[in-house]
Amino acid sequence: MTKNLDQLLNSRLSLNNMGDKDIRTRAQEFQKLIQLTSELEAYPYFQALDDNQGAEAVLNGQRVIMMGSNNYLGLTTHPKVREAAIKAIETYGTSMTGSRLLNGTLSLHEEFEEEIADFLGKEAALIFTTGYQVNIGTITALTDPNTTVFLDKLNHASMWDAVSMSAARPVFYKHLDAESLGKSLEKTPADRQKIVVTDGIFSMEGDIAPLPEIVKVCQKHKALLIVDDAHAIGTLGPRGEGAAGHFGLSKEVDLITATFSKALASTGGYVAGDSDLINYIKHFGRSMIFSASITPSNLAAARAAFHILQEEPERVRQVQKNAEKLKNGLVEMGWDVGPSETPIIPIFLGDDLTTLTLWKELLNAGVYINPVVYPAVPPDKALLRISTIASHNDSHIQQALDAFQVVGERYHLLQKQASNALG
Ligand code: PMP
Repeated sequence: MTKNLDQLLNSRLSLNNMGDKDIRTRAQEFQKLIQLTSELEAYPYFQALDDNQGAEAVLNGQRVIMMGSNNYLGLTTHPKVREAAIKAIETYGTSMTGSRLLNGTLSLHEEFEEEIADFLGKEAALIFTTGYQVNIGTITALTDPNTTVFLDKLNHASMWDAVSMSAARPVFYKHLDAESLGKSLEKTPADRQKIVVTDGIFSMEGDIAPLPEIVKVCQKHKALLIVDDAHAIGTLGPRGEGAAGHFGLSKEVDLITATFSKALASTGGYVAGDSDLINYIKHFGRSMIFSASITPSNLAAARAAFHILQEEPERVRQVQKNAEKLKNGLVEMGWDVGPSETPIIPIFLGDDLTTLTLWKELLNAGVYINPVVYPAVPPDKALLRISTIASHNDSHIQQALDAFQVVGERYHLLQKQASNALG
């Protein structure tokens, strides 16, 4: 299986060089590839769960420990969150059937926006239907042909997509490197508008943006700073308020974007900042204006989760503690987990074959994690992404560690990471 899979994985790369083929031919080739990968039981996507109760799920009849979700505070099944969603359906029905701009705003949106702004120490907030749309709407609204947007190389796709949909010029700086950002800002003509965009916690690597240094260079070059706290709301900062709060820089970060689809147990998202900027995005953010409003049930679920975050800040400590325990165990065994200090723990393996093989072995052992392979990362930068949640107990963590020990020994991966061990 290993040899066949290796050949198959390599043949994927040729799909990229089919510029001369029409889309039907490409799609047929791609389908064949997916079929063969599935036959080798190495197709990791669209795994249909039979049940999902937070810390545990059921896949193909097998109970698995869920370490591949972003349900950081374990709130998707919390009785108060469920109840809020059900009550919202009973009160408002199932859909707003229109944009926020027209018929899609409830007083519930506005009350929740005020609460979010207060919590983050900002003047105003604006709720969108998804976190992806938050970044698209925010960045496209604020930019024009005279704008340069500076992005960390490993920013989430939503920020890349936003810039490519805008008229702005993108400039990428080295991952987590404020000096590299400073140099790029320095080279940009003073009369151009400058916007810097970074993840607060990086979604695959779990590392934290160095906001104190980034704020300093932004202030020096009069650049507007946007921090995407999708993974940091609920997991970082004294009250779980995100990366800006973690560094005590809520005022200095101009705009904070985030999603409800992770710690806040729903879907949707928000941008928070000065009221004039928020009002501008509210009237020029096309991904909000031209898309239906978040459903009442999603809105109410996120708000209930947001209240629990404030009432039970110990959940933030718990998810951090669980991550630390798992990470320490993995490091002791000899896995390369990089500099993550968050509930996202990457295991850097390098090649896709090793990554997919380990993903499957761990799944068979009852541990659900995400393989991150090409094209999500370059062909030699594959990793396993593990994420902990507050409702994992010691036994879940120990079972996961035991499974990692077994596969690590089986493939001689402990201590000598990312050396193409199966090749
Ligand atoms: N930003 C980041 C950093 C993310 O990781 C994600 C989701 N993976 C998003 C934005 C998009 O959020 P949503 O899933 O709510 O659209």
